Amino acid sequence: MKPLGPIPSFYQAVDGELSVDGQKVRKIAEQAGRTPIFIYSRVAIQQRISRLRKALPKRTDINYAIKANSYAPLLEMMSGLVDGFDIASGGELAMAQQAGLEASRISFAGPGKRDDELEAAIAAGATLNLESEGEAARAIAIGRRLGAQPRLAIRVNPEFELKGSGMKMGGGAKPFGVDAERVPALARDIIAQGADWRGLHIFTGSQALDADAIIEAQANVLSLASEIASRIGTSLPKLNMGGGFGIPYFHGDKPLDVERIGAALSSRMAALPQNLAATELCVELGRYLVGEAGIYVTRIVDRKISHGETYLVTDGGLHHQLAASGNFGTVVRRNYPLAVVKAFGAEPAEIANVVGCLCTPLDRLADRAHLPRADVGDLVAVFCAGAYGASASPSAFLGQGPAAEVLV
Ligand SMILES: *Cc1c(COP(=O)(O)O)cnc(C)c1O
Repeated sequence: MKPLGPIPSFYQAVDGELSVDGQKVRKIAEQAGRTPIFIYSRVAIQQRISRLRKALPKRTDINYAIKANSYAPLLEMMSGLVDGFDIASGGELAMAQQAGLEASRISFAGPGKRDDELEAAIAAGATLNLESEGEAARAIAIGRRLGAQPRLAIRVNPEFELKGSGMKMGGGAKPFGVDAERVPALARDIIAQGADWRGLHIFTGSQALDADAIIEAQANVLSLASEIASRIGTSLPKLNMGGGFGIPYFHGDKPLDVERIGAALSSRMAALPQNLAATELCVELGRYLVGEAGIYVTRIVDRKISHGETYLVTDGGLHHQLAASGNFGTVVRRNYPLAVVKAFGAEPAEIANVVGCLCTPLDRLADRAHLPRADVGDLVAVFCAGAYGASASPSAFLGQGPAAEVLV
């Protein structure tokens, strides 16, 4: 038997069945008329954001990194709940604008921005988080051609990283950001060329569950930002401190203590250096805001035995939930939290493998899981599907096409 990850606290049983915001999952899937389906909980997202606002100092804005989940109704909802959107492509710029967020609250990071993407962002008035000197020169030239003053920030490649983070994005040679020691010269240059100077972006990692590691990274970010600001010789209009707040996916993972992070940040903010005193501060979060608020629901189409092991074969799989299959940046495959929808919270009765419908051994949703008995036609829910599910899976693989999505 292999343990399943922890089921997020947002979900309850109604008459013994899994429900989302008080509605039975089986009913939601029936109304949608098809499976597989991603179901996102409005209440869970609202609760998550209000808890975070309470925990963080008032002064800290919350940005949403829309690559985690860019389902249009969810983005529209988020535009009323968060302070800004972080985007990483021209396509995401269009989605963010469609969701109704003003461009002044959109910032665009990511290496390899094409000229047409830079142009769209500059014309709209979004902030570019510059990833290199070359990109800065292209942005300035495009601004001149358009007769528009580009809003420019610089993404810093810091020497430190977020300890214990699932995805390292700082420290040493990287395709992201400008090496810290070259940032002051670049900043002075773009200011001299007439850009609207928007400050710094320092992102140190992702998916950390250790509050102390995040506290340390934030302290490092604030002192690096202050040092760079004094070398530039101006105060910083804005500092995007990065994020990295993780969620528990696997057995043994503990939820992040955001109250502890907020308390540490508050005391640090009470004693900020002069050149950060008036700086707008924000964190940028993806999975922490939406990951646990989504489930991926798939139907069992076959139940079979091979060499004594039970296989529940579903109509879903890695083409919608690549991360749960263990093929999205994990070394050792572990089980996401998963449940049989009709028997949520019931005693397990058997050990079963839950697999997808794709003709590849990579397509696994749970290995040797201890589950209540489930049969053909029953629904299975994979949790932690609100982030990097639909937006990060190869839905065209094997001609399958995307899953349905609904925001309850
Ligand atoms: C992906 C990304 C995020 C969001 O990461 P999460 O782990 O989902 O919070 C934030 N900022 C940048 C620059 C990113 O690339």
